[in-house]
Amino acid sequence: MHLLNADLHSHSNVSDGTLSPEVLAARAHAQGVELWSLTDHDELAGQHRARDAALALGMRYLAGTEISVSFAGTTVHIVGLGIDPDDPALIAGLAATRGGRRERAQQMAAGLAAVGIKDAFEGALRYVGNPELISRTHFARFLVESGVCEDTYAVFRRYLTEGKPGYVPHQWARLGDAVRWIREAGGIAVIAHPARYRYTPIEEYALFTEFIGHGGRGVEVMTGSHSAAEQARYGETAREFGLLASRGSDFHSPEESRIELGSLPDLPGHLEPVWMALEHRIQETHP
Ligand code: AMP
Ligand code: MN
Ligand code: MN
Ligand code: MN
Repeated sequence: MHLLNADLHSHSNVSDGTLSPEVLAARAHAQGVELWSLTDHDELAGQHRARDAALALGMRYLAGTEISVSFAGTTVHIVGLGIDPDDPALIAGLAATRGGRRERAQQMAAGLAAVGIKDAFEGALRYVGNPELISRTHFARFLVESGVCEDTYAVFRRYLTEGKPGYVPHQWARLGDAVRWIREAGGIAVIAHPARYRYTPIEEYALFTEFIGHGGRGVEVMTGSHSAAEQARYGETAREFGLLASRGSDFHSPEESRIELGSLPDLPGHLEPVWMALEHRIQETHP
């Protein structure tokens, strides 16, 4: 159980991934994943499909989501694992969180139009699988397709991050609300890819202590967003704060993702894997 090939962070076309939950499940299984979680942004609509596909393949499954949160002027992602995907308060909280995405996308398109990139809203929409979830990733795909940038990373760098023409600040969920929705839906809250936030040490300390104060219990140590040095560093952070450790590729698409499903190094042996605390929430087929 400790050295399970667990991949507890991935996206389907129900949010900003390109594969359906079923195709993603098959890919995870083919890559040797033994315990999988689909963690679409601010959305649970793929959960039953993902679970059914996983169980049909004989792969264990944990229901999941990745909630967008605003904290200290930055967007932070909180992964919820082992949640009940039918929990009404979680469903309502996520609906409220993704509520302003359409208007935000229209403002993003206006910002891009001002620098000569026309019809980006319509262009991004062509990549959207779920009309309630228009994300920056869909704009990035459109800008690559139309030849404005070489790849999606360049699009983010030049157009979609703070201070750039297509960036629109947005108010996401509050940290305390996100953690509470996850806990009350029976799950464990996990800070996603902490190295991505560019916080000062004081801000990062505030994030971890407030997160724990709200009842958050885990942190991603092995993620596609961390370098080897960052994996080591957040392994230490997990130990210092007494947090459970998680492992997940953050896979979005075969063309764009740098890390394949199920291919990260194992968690260091001295850390407690988050799935050890979620055994009662793991779904599996009993032959
Ligand atoms: P949104 O929720 O619309 O703000 O979009 C956030 C998504 O954009 C993330 O979940 C990633 O999939 C993607 N993303 C964010 N920053 C970058 C980046 N610098 N390079 C590539 N993809 C990114
Ligand atoms: Mn994403
Ligand atoms: Mn994320
Ligand atoms: Mn993610």
